[in-house]
Amino acid sequence: MNDINQTDDVLVAGAGIWGCTIARRLAEAGHRVAVWEKRGAPGGNVRCETDSETGIEVHAYGSHIFHTHDREAWNFVRRFTEFNGYQHKVLARHGGKTYHLPLGLAMINKFFGVELEPGEVAAFMSDEKHSSAIFDAFFRGYTSKQWGRPPEDIDPAIIKRVPVRSNYDTNYFNDYWQGIPSDGYNALFGRLLDHPYITLETGREFSIDDIGSFPGKVYYSGPIDALFGYRFGALPWRSLRFETERLDIADFQGTSVVNYTEAEVPYTRIHEFKHYHPELKDVMARPKTIICREYPAEWKPGDEPYYPVNNRESAELLEKYREEAAKHPNLIIGGRLGQYRYYDMDQAVSAALKVEI
Ligand SMILES: Cc1cc2nc3c(=O)[nH]c(=O)nc-3n(C[C@H](O)[C@H](O)[C@H](O)COP(=O)(O)OP(=O)(O)OC[C@H]3O[C@@H](n4cnc5c(N)ncnc54)[C@H](O)[C@@H]3O)c2cc1C
Repeated sequence: MNDINQTDDVLVAGAGIWGCTIARRLAEAGHRVAVWEKRGAPGGNVRCETDSETGIEVHAYGSHIFHTHDREAWNFVRRFTEFNGYQHKVLARHGGKTYHLPLGLAMINKFFGVELEPGEVAAFMSDEKHSSAIFDAFFRGYTSKQWGRPPEDIDPAIIKRVPVRSNYDTNYFNDYWQGIPSDGYNALFGRLLDHPYITLETGREFSIDDIGSFPGKVYYSGPIDALFGYRFGALPWRSLRFETERLDIADFQGTSVVNYTEAEVPYTRIHEFKHYHPELKDVMARPKTIICREYPAEWKPGDEPYYPVNNRESAELLEKYREEAAKHPNLIIGGRLGQYRYYDMDQAVSAALKVEI
């Protein structure tokens, strides 16, 4: 490659939240940083589009709520955005009724038609009859859709690992800090990369042949198997398909996310994006809304990868790619695609803050 700016000493390949965090740290440490992003814009799967007709911020790759109890990650992102104080609640539809997740007093009392006190929840849920009924209603069908397996193959033991709240707290996350960037996720990425030492090039895909072109390190957050031409085979993923629709009503479901727990309903969730910004009163008041149905999907190479399929075969395959990567001492691989693991945004930021630069 001879069109590389000779003053760039390091390359960040992939401008998701992991890559942008690294790029910012490197620039602040005095490095000239080239950022290559193969898509048309930075942000990775956190990228949003603002619908010009309604002003609604549409999360292009599924709902993204920033939530964390990691003070370092929280303080870092807050240098680049304010958060609107949104607190995530998730509802679940089953049998024509709507329940509050997670599994707690509100859900249990409504589902069984009882009025338990907090001190009675543990004993009630330790009764096999009750835990099985909850598993069948809320977890069996949903999990089978998510992973493309028949409902009868879903292990009822998972209900034992689901935390039960003995209170009426319907906040979906246990994390102390959460919210949505007040002026949107894209603005957050714009500010992360807004540094005189950072040059962003979109539509530019890094390949392993580019590795020798930079005197310093290369920080890569694309898929680790793609980097080595899938030479040992493709790491398996679960994919998703989103069907987004603009509706001529002000409010479709009264909340941002409703889970559809029955196996017969082909989608797992409906997202309604305007509810992520309740502070935008004019957007909320408009007689239009945007919803998105989320369908789990089989994955094949070339499809968008969403959830890694962690099993023995994929662990062995991953190890082979890691051995390959280790042959390049100036290559640092991170992020959800590079590490082949599910990261929440705060975990991706936290991991990027810990990388030695
Ligand atoms: C359905 C869904 C919902 C989620 N909801 C939440 C949520 O509510 N809250 C939360 O905290 N997290 C959520 N997450 C997780 C969140 O999406 C990830 O934490 C985040 O995307 C990780 O960022 P990343 O930088 O590691 O990867 P990515 O966002 O995937 O960024 C990687 C970037 O690298 C680019 N790239 C790939 N290959 C190359 C190459 N060869 N050269 C150049 N560029 C390349 C890609 O185009 C991409 O822009 C969700 C994930 C899913 C699947």
